[in-house]
Amino acid sequence: MDFPERKTLKTSLFLEGPGLHTGEKSRITIHPEDTGGTLVFQYKDVKIPAVLEFAYSEGRSTCLKRDDCKILTIEHFLAACTGVFLTDGVVELTGSGEIPALDGSAVQFLAALLSTGFESIGHASVLKITDKLEVTWSSGNRRYRVREHEGLAIRCVIEFPVASIGRQSFTYSREGTDFLREIAPAKTFVLEKDIAHLRAKGLAKGGSEKNALVYSDSGLLNPRAAAFRDEPVRHKILDFLGDLYLLGAHVKGLFDVMAPGHPYNLSFFKLLKKKAAIRPADPEG
Ligand SMILES: [Zn+2]
Repeated sequence: MDFPERKTLKTSLFLEGPGLHTGEKSRITIHPEDTGGTLVFQYKDVKIPAVLEFAYSEGRSTCLKRDDCKILTIEHFLAACTGVFLTDGVVELTGSGEIPALDGSAVQFLAALLSTGFESIGHASVLKITDKLEVTWSSGNRRYRVREHEGLAIRCVIEFPVASIGRQSFTYSREGTDFLREIAPAKTFVLEKDIAHLRAKGLAKGGSEKNALVYSDSGLLNPRAAAFRDEPVRHKILDFLGDLYLLGAHVKGLFDVMAPGHPYNLSFFKLLKKKAAIRPADPEG
């Protein structure tokens, strides 16, 4: 039976920089450790496993919370961890409570993880979808579906009311898509008309023309920062993969998602976790 591996890093590594929303500096240091199959974040002496039970969304991002301790904007880092199957380790956070934005994508996290290398520490749990699940949200055209599939695949469609994004679709598969080249470099994005509103809410303070693509009706305002013509839909898949990490298992299923967003990802995954069986790691392992 093919059981994927649990992995931790070979040695510690750190990354630092301002957060996307707070604009304040932080540093993450990832330490190799057997943490039982999911990364554990540590901030101000509070340890928070990266699992759905501690996750919530602030709308534009995914965060962890335990007691009064919050860790903000974890999704791009976790997407890199999903991409390389990094299951175990302690992620120590210092400075602000927000993970550094770096270039607004997952590529720098991924490059750092790959350059450090991995240590196998046994077999990972698998979450295999056996029953179909569909959820439609009443607002807009948002819809999530999942069904049985041998590997992991995500078909994503987005539709934005600005001509420069419009309707975009992309299909990712773990076996057929080169995550490093096709998904990880996709930067976060924003509509120009939303920026003032976000800033008024105290968000996007660390956003810049280098780490976020800005779209208006007249076009992409910072085209030199873009890696792809259909970057927004690729970034939505990146976000989805980051949130998927929180299921705490290697997921096998075909997801078909329309207009995804962090709060919906989390509620869909919570539902999925209740319904689907997580097969534990091979006891022989
Ligand atoms: Zn994102």
